[in-house]
Amino acid sequence: MTTMLKAPSSKEFMDKLKSRTPGEIEFHQAVHEVVESLLPFLEENPRYKTAKILERISEPERILIFRVPWVDDKGEIQVNRGYRIEMNSAIGPYKGGLRFHPTVNLGILKFLAFEQVFKNSLTTLPMGGGKGGSDFDPKQKSDNEVMRFCQSFMTELCKHIGPNTDVPAGDIGVGGREIGYLFGQYKRIRNEFTGVLTGKGAEWGGSVIRPEATGYGNVYFAEEMLNTKNDSLKGKIVTVSGSGNVAQFTVEKVNELGGKVVTLSDSSGFIHDPDGIDGEKLTFVMRLKNIKRGRIEEYAKKYNVAYYPNARPWGVKCDVALPSATQNEINAEEAQILIDSGCICVSEGANMPSTPEAVDIFIKNEILYGPGKAANAGGVAVSGLEMSQNAMRLSWTREEVDNQLQRIMKDVHTTCVKYGKSSNGYVNYVNGANIGGFVKVANAMIAQGIV
Ligand code: NDP
Repeated sequence: MTTMLKAPSSKEFMDKLKSRTPGEIEFHQAVHEVVESLLPFLEENPRYKTAKILERISEPERILIFRVPWVDDKGEIQVNRGYRIEMNSAIGPYKGGLRFHPTVNLGILKFLAFEQVFKNSLTTLPMGGGKGGSDFDPKQKSDNEVMRFCQSFMTELCKHIGPNTDVPAGDIGVGGREIGYLFGQYKRIRNEFTGVLTGKGAEWGGSVIRPEATGYGNVYFAEEMLNTKNDSLKGKIVTVSGSGNVAQFTVEKVNELGGKVVTLSDSSGFIHDPDGIDGEKLTFVMRLKNIKRGRIEEYAKKYNVAYYPNARPWGVKCDVALPSATQNEINAEEAQILIDSGCICVSEGANMPSTPEAVDIFIKNEILYGPGKAANAGGVAVSGLEMSQNAMRLSWTREEVDNQLQRIMKDVHTTCVKYGKSSNGYVNYVNGANIGGFVKVANAMIAQGIV
């Protein structure tokens, strides 16, 4: 006989989680947000409490931590740490990116893996959640150094992943170059050509639109949110942070839909170009960041616009803000500045770019606020489509993949509205994404027993 359990309060739950995972600050932040959304839902749906889904879903199925030794161009031995968090496989193989950045630690990767579980569920595709990476910094490294690091990293990781087990992709610091080196080493050790990584080159198993997918998807999501107010991106002033993969294709799609992007940034500062970053300027940014691997400051010199060192772009007046760099890059003060300057929509290309206090301000002011786990789901969605194409050994056209991406972002939006609409009609997309993402995974976990 099962007994009716009282759900723990948010504080009780978080105190216990924190005592089991000391110092994992970003992980605590991500779980807390989900717990706040879910507790009322669990009260109405006690079977999830009885099955202790909240306790189980916040504990990774498996964590791998390993040494990554490699030799730099001077012949000196370097040692980094590699990680893979296999968070949840209830609805499909673990799926999520690899991040190479000096700030990487266990807490950051666990937050990303946790978010990924909900995000992947929202896409409607059969993918579990995972994340991995290393504290290796690809900046200022030669191609040969990056290759040797990737080969060493994959020499260990290949024992734990596979096309039906765990399928990593890119994230910060891991783009087409790194995926190529990682794939080459996997193939060499395992002697098999399989869809073990996504984000591959189009000539060797990659999907068209995968590089564009996260940025495009976030812009489609912002457009869906604006459409609920009979509005659109046409004619809007847009601020974007970052200047990497997500930021670049965000600019491309905003331009296509008739908006004007006026900022880009990197970890050294931001540029403000009031005339807008048009196609020609974007080509310059892509070359600067993807080939020359330079700093965004060079844009300001080339186009004679303002550059603000060690600053973020949220003080620039805008209608729409699309943070696309990293976690916790909009704090409460910056959120208030955005509201005061008339921003009506914030849609997150990055993962958890807004602090909890910033999110509270967006929701209190009832602006359109799309959290990353919904708004940036387009990247992993097209990764899912890449897995399907690999399994079928065929390639879809640009138009086919883009149509599917647009349909998926519409579906993610519909799910958020379904679970997030408040009694006054305001859509709380945070609640919508958290509850909508949870239900499918929780039902699968219950169906599969206590595992
Ligand atoms: P890239 O490495 O291509 O670009 C990252 C950008 O953000 C760079 O401009 C980088 O500047 C800046 N940045 C990174 N860390 C910091 C930091 N600590 N402070 C300030 N700026 C920083 O990564 P992506 O574009 O792929 O990823 C951007 C965000 O989008 C991340 O949050 C990622 O998790 C998220 N995301 C990415 C997906 C994808 O498909 N790639 C999918 C879903 C989410 P600099 O060069 O100076 O470091």
